[in-house]
Amino acid sequence: MKAPVSSFEMLPEVAQFLSASPIAAVVGGQDVCGLDGQAFTTLDPGTGLPLAQVVAMQAADVDLAVRAAAKAFPAWSGLLASERAAWLHRLADEIERRKPVIAQIEALDAGKILAQAAADVQVCVDTLRYFNTMALHLQRRSTLAVQGHEAWTFRKAWGPCGFIFPWNFPFLLIGWGVSPALAAGNTVVIKPAEDTPLSAIYLARLAREIGFPDGVINIVTGMGDRAGAALSAHPGLKRFSFTGSPEVGQLVGAACGRNLIPCKLELGGKGAAVVFDDVDVEDTARKLAVAITTHSGQVCCDATRWLVHEKIYDRFVESSVRCLGQVQVGYQMDAASAMGPLVSARQRNRVLGYLDRGQSEGAEMLLPGGRASVPGYDGFYVSPTLMAGDLKNVAAREEVFGPVAFLAPFRDERQAVEMANDTDYGLANSVWSSDLGRASRVAEAMVAGNSWINAHNLFPHGVPYGGVNRSGTGGGVNSPETLYDYWRSQSVVRPLA
Ligand code: NAD
Repeated sequence: MKAPVSSFEMLPEVAQFLSASPIAAVVGGQDVCGLDGQAFTTLDPGTGLPLAQVVAMQAADVDLAVRAAAKAFPAWSGLLASERAAWLHRLADEIERRKPVIAQIEALDAGKILAQAAADVQVCVDTLRYFNTMALHLQRRSTLAVQGHEAWTFRKAWGPCGFIFPWNFPFLLIGWGVSPALAAGNTVVIKPAEDTPLSAIYLARLAREIGFPDGVINIVTGMGDRAGAALSAHPGLKRFSFTGSPEVGQLVGAACGRNLIPCKLELGGKGAAVVFDDVDVEDTARKLAVAITTHSGQVCCDATRWLVHEKIYDRFVESSVRCLGQVQVGYQMDAASAMGPLVSARQRNRVLGYLDRGQSEGAEMLLPGGRASVPGYDGFYVSPTLMAGDLKNVAAREEVFGPVAFLAPFRDERQAVEMANDTDYGLANSVWSSDLGRASRVAEAMVAGNSWINAHNLFPHGVPYGGVNRSGTGGGVNSPETLYDYWRSQSVVRPLA
């Protein structure tokens, strides 16, 4: 395997992790290489070069992982909440201690700016601690007032739970997804995306290193239509959570439906930012430019339609073009880079395809963007792009998933809300105004799981995050409700007479 060209210093622990070929998955606490010995290559998106070989698991391998999770369930769910909390806090501490290692692995695998990868690791740590502490303190048993009867309900973990994740926030989404499940006493089987499998494997090994019970965290690696399809259709699972595209979400939801198990779906988005004429134009343009270039715009809840009051539209365009034009595109491991590559050649083709199609449908290219070259690095780079025009344009309607925003002017509040809601998606929007009464009104009128005021991309623990319509089935992650999702209620009743 060719070593990636790079100007950063790879930590010895990262080099050692990457040196195995293939890198084994983790099932029942053991390294496993798959029954038929197949492997696939994961690339460094910044160089376009191979990073590692990873095991390509098939249905039979997935079956073993679900069995391992089922075997581990009675002991894990049977621990006292305080005993389970001790394990999970230890895991959080160890992840935090290894943050530089995990951040390098994540940045190399996902093409994510190194500092952002480190921040993602910290979010995983904080999420583990948040749910773990909550699980210790929430009531799991309540007495019911029923005339003539003694009655109560109590909450139990479901059993082995399946998780499928996308490639844009591999480690952070594991934290958001599995922390409540583990804290509630479930065991998990995780399938990371084939473009970014490495940090999930590292997590399971780290858990094993600290003596975590075998089979509580299992990782199956491989292709979506093999390992992913086998996991979502497995009858041994009791709950499922899928994060990814609406198209695959429909397949996973249907598979879970056939097994009659609950399935959370966290899907794509086409968020709007509604900008009124009483904002600080330069400051707002700068903040939206940061949002659309964070992880090269590969963020499900990004503001991709910028709806701007007609009075400030021209000034806003000017500021946005200037802010985006200054973004330093470069190798994700270089400290000077503000925006790294897209995750794959396929993703770059998708983004460039939307620029072409959007332009041929009449979009104006305010900032042409497109393919970017970074000297010395043959990765999957594109530059920030600003388009404008009719919101029926394909680039304004469909999820591009790159550093591309589409602008349109609006006349008044009513029209702004109509424009924001004219989408099949419903994940997250923002409204920008110094009139907080109006901002709150618009925030509530926009149809989505999340509305932000004078900011975009806010995820404090305690605020539920999830989408509606083509963006998901609601419920989401990150709040007390999420923990309750991973307990099922059971009631007991007896007549007093
Ligand atoms: P994707 O749907 O192509 O893949 C997601 C996962 O599904 C991968 O692990 C893949 O291997 C697996 N998969 C593919 N085919 C499968 C099948 N037939 N059966 C089971 N699993 C299968 O999505 P992606 O391209 O990896 O990620 C981008 C999408 O994820 C975007 O739409 C983005 O908006 C969305 N996303 C949503 C959230 C959220 O919280 N709502 C967060 C991040 C990303």
